[in-house]
Amino acid sequence: MSGPDPAVIAELRPAYQADLAAGTDRFFRPRRDDCPWCGGTDLSVALRTTDLLQIKPGRFTVAACADCGHLFQNPRLSGAGLEFYYRDFYDGLGAEGMARLFAGQSTAYRHRAELLRPYPTPRNWLDVGTGHGHFCHTARESWPDTRFEGLDQCGGVERAAEHGWIDRAHRAEFIAVGPTLADGYDVVSMYHYLEHTTDPAAELETAYKVLRPGGHLLIELPNPGCRWRRLLGRYWVGWLQPQHLQLFPLDNLRRRLAELGFTVRGSGAVDSGYAFDLVAAVWLGLCQLAPAEDAPWRARRPGRAARWLRSGIFIAGLPPLAVAALVDRFARPTHGLRWSAAYWIVAGKD
Ligand SMILES: [Zn+2]
Repeated sequence: MSGPDPAVIAELRPAYQADLAAGTDRFFRPRRDDCPWCGGTDLSVALRTTDLLQIKPGRFTVAACADCGHLFQNPRLSGAGLEFYYRDFYDGLGAEGMARLFAGQSTAYRHRAELLRPYPTPRNWLDVGTGHGHFCHTARESWPDTRFEGLDQCGGVERAAEHGWIDRAHRAEFIAVGPTLADGYDVVSMYHYLEHTTDPAAELETAYKVLRPGGHLLIELPNPGCRWRRLLGRYWVGWLQPQHLQLFPLDNLRRRLAELGFTVRGSGAVDSGYAFDLVAAVWLGLCQLAPAEDAPWRARRPGRAARWLRSGIFIAGLPPLAVAALVDRFARPTHGLRWSAAYWIVAGKD
């Protein structure tokens, strides 16, 4: 396992160490006593965890609302926290790995694009939270006459336009730029986007405003109602702390969309044969077991013994990973919302 270039890490280390010198408290807002979705005050702790992927310092708690079932990070990350924990995940050090991960999901992207098949060919399509533009790149094959635009805050969206994967890049916050997108879209899509946002209600309102009458909103989200969540505990991939600020039970979202004026045309389990709940859980477990690899948020480079031990643990982890992959692929319990880690919704603006 070759990690990132040690020289690049050494260069980034002073800035991270300066950020961490004052502790992680400033990365969090005050803890709230009510549910951000329904205002209910009967809250319990659903999860206590750490950053299992980048292994950056910090502890995270997800609260559950007894009244509506909404799950939300509490205390939530502050602006400084969001910047710190996203840094080098999709961009910088993490860019190459994420590009590989995104590129490997073309089957899933095709399934998403085909959900619109029962409806007229869209003239234009805005993909909000487009990342590096991989979805649009694949969706063009299904919709060759549609103009695709991508919106994201990371630099990947600009590279997507340079590659010709999208026709226009918006490097911006959706809520902020919404009023300038007045011409309107036939489709707005939000794939694994809302759970990262600080104000999902405003995101949905903005989507409603920028859609033309007769247009469609496509959403895909982690499914907190799936059984993997309880079976795999903190190793359930859908938690993705600290990035996922909230998780939405499907019925909550359907109701909110109806309140906004949408007609929910369909929803269901994401099932495109690419489930990886168990593989991801085993992988996350190995990452906790092994000494962490070098990263600029660690005070110093791990020694040779730690690096050898890490390699050994991952080699020993190959058989369990293989078994997990086989179960994910061939021996999953029956499909449907109860066992699907994600769900989709198609909503129309009448
Ligand atoms: Zn609630």
